Amino acid sequence: TFDVSAPWLNRVIERRPRQYVHAVDGVSFQIPRGTTLALVGESGCGKSTVARLLVGLYTPSGGQVQFDGADIAATLAGPQAQTLRRRMQMIFQDPYASLNPRWKVQDIVAEPLREHGLVTDGPGLRARVAELLQSVGLSPADAGKFPHQFSGGQRQRISIARALATQPEFLVCDEPTSALDVSVQAQVLNIMKDLQRQRGLTYLFISHNLAVVRHVADQVGVMYLGRLVEQADKRTLFATPRHPYTRMLLDAIPDIHMTGRARTPVRGEVPNPLNPPSGCSFHPRCPHANARCQQERPALLSLHGVRVACHAVEEGRI
Ligand code: SF4
Ligand code: MG
Repeated sequence: TFDVSAPWLNRVIERRPRQYVHAVDGVSFQIPRGTTLALVGESGCGKSTVARLLVGLYTPSGGQVQFDGADIAATLAGPQAQTLRRRMQMIFQDPYASLNPRWKVQDIVAEPLREHGLVTDGPGLRARVAELLQSVGLSPADAGKFPHQFSGGQRQRISIARALATQPEFLVCDEPTSALDVSVQAQVLNIMKDLQRQRGLTYLFISHNLAVVRHVADQVGVMYLGRLVEQADKRTLFATPRHPYTRMLLDAIPDIHMTGRARTPVRGEVPNPLNPPSGCSFHPRCPHANARCQQERPALLSLHGVRVACHAVEEGRI
């Protein structure tokens, strides 16, 4: 199991000067090895912030982010930094922006191998890159090409090959297929699932798309304004969502078997994450809100293996 927690974090700050990003507070979860936890929520819920905190792209303004029992910021500043970076890799949303357009695929995929001193000789690097490209369904001959010679889906495969170069155990995937055509998304997701099975990879998968989550996740965590509001295994969450926000998100999924149209659009807008509503921050949008909800923040409680933060669920009102 990998333990991830950001228990004391109220606000995080990017490495660049004084630029605040979405707050995260009290988010912690465990991901069994070889499985996928998907974090879902609308934009502004802090799910990408969690991803970026984990790989050290953001540093917390207070508190600490822990991974596998260790403080990430402290680890990245110490002698274990290389080891952590090797174990945990990230796949980004935009394969256009994350690949250097002036580098050949050979150099892009070989970069982490060089950086970590894993393979240094030319023939060794070429062989290893060929193997990595094949593992994502590309040809060794593709190593001599530039990123612009590939489609979006192929570029994301190149990103995946690069991420796998250090033989990581844990992959943080931030909307890895959101920039791709719908027809290509399933291909990339299936490659990721195959690689997970073959290599025992653990994924933290960030997505706003519940259809994608349904395809890839073992467990689902639902975030709202920087907090985890529900976490359950995928079947339970889709069959019997407990939190009103989870229900709202699920009700808005297009019913692909019926009309292709959304059933009930999501109500209201996400408030400013830096100035969240009092009590349960979902109360202005919640059909079950009452006076207690406006005043008291619900704790994340475990009920029959589901974690949920809602007074109405706790009181048995819904
Ligand atoms: Fe709705 Fe209250 Fe539950 Fe928040 S605590 S989700 S406002 S019922
Ligand atoms: Mg995002």
